[in-house]
Amino acid sequence: MIVRAELPPGVRCAVALSYDLEMCAGYSPVYINHGRIMPSLRDYTLSLCETASAHDVELQFFYVGNGLEDADIGYLEHIVAAGHSIDNHTYSHMPLTTADTDALADELALTNKRLRERLGVESVVLRAPGGYAGGLNLLEVNQRTILDAGFQWVSSHTDATMGKYGAAHDVAAASRLQPYVYPTGLIEIPFQGWMDRIFFDFEHCVDPDALESWRRVAGHQPVPEGWNCPWTSEGVLDSWIEFNLAAFDYAYDHGLLWTPVWHPYTHYLHDPQNRVLPALLRHIRNKADPVAMLTMREAGSALTVQG
Ligand SMILES: [Zn+2]
Repeated sequence: MIVRAELPPGVRCAVALSYDLEMCAGYSPVYINHGRIMPSLRDYTLSLCETASAHDVELQFFYVGNGLEDADIGYLEHIVAAGHSIDNHTYSHMPLTTADTDALADELALTNKRLRERLGVESVVLRAPGGYAGGLNLLEVNQRTILDAGFQWVSSHTDATMGKYGAAHDVAAASRLQPYVYPTGLIEIPFQGWMDRIFFDFEHCVDPDALESWRRVAGHQPVPEGWNCPWTSEGVLDSWIEFNLAAFDYAYDHGLLWTPVWHPYTHYLHDPQNRVLPALLRHIRNKADPVAMLTMREAGSALTVQG
């Protein structure tokens, strides 16, 4: 079976940019990932939404459900009211590859319930915590667990070739890992290109000890005004912007759907002035031909299965 992305008429290419909204384990003193977003990161996320709205773009967020136990979820209500989408990222950042599929079923159902009760959202697309080089290909029971929880689409397959074959290969990310159907009928929408976490905190990390000491002492706390990330070198943010503009250009030139995966927390640390999203959206809106900016829900709806 082949999956094709049907782009809206007259559109040159499509971008489905999504953010995993979470307190990443890699920035946690105790390596715990959760959805109880600290106030400064709430503000930062709202500024991303403002940037998107100013360019007439709706963003896609995937949210770790345990944050929906917070009394104050006004920031999430605001995100939904502004037209952005929030979908399921499990309840506790549980890997979708787990052998304990009963626990996975509970996590998916509980997060769906909380999204429905607290935000009036019916989740239809699931983002995998972490992502996997082979997707969920050998895990039929996990695929069925996801389908049974009501999802049509899962986004779990990462591009393990990034950084291995040179810049031209990296930029051509949208040509690889197209959406596909698992034998169970579940549709996979892979992560394309560099994930921000990998780019900044692994690939371009020049001082892993500095990241480790920051994480232990200051992780999951607001960074002071003017803070400079001690584990990356100067210029890495410019490289990130350059990569994303070029990856977009590739999708534009080849008429592709491009599905990058980012995190508000990673951008809060590495792009405190919020330069990346405005630069990308300006670049996209300055193109001669129209570009469809889609949420992952819309990207899923644009997919047709043939054969
Ligand atoms: Zn995550």
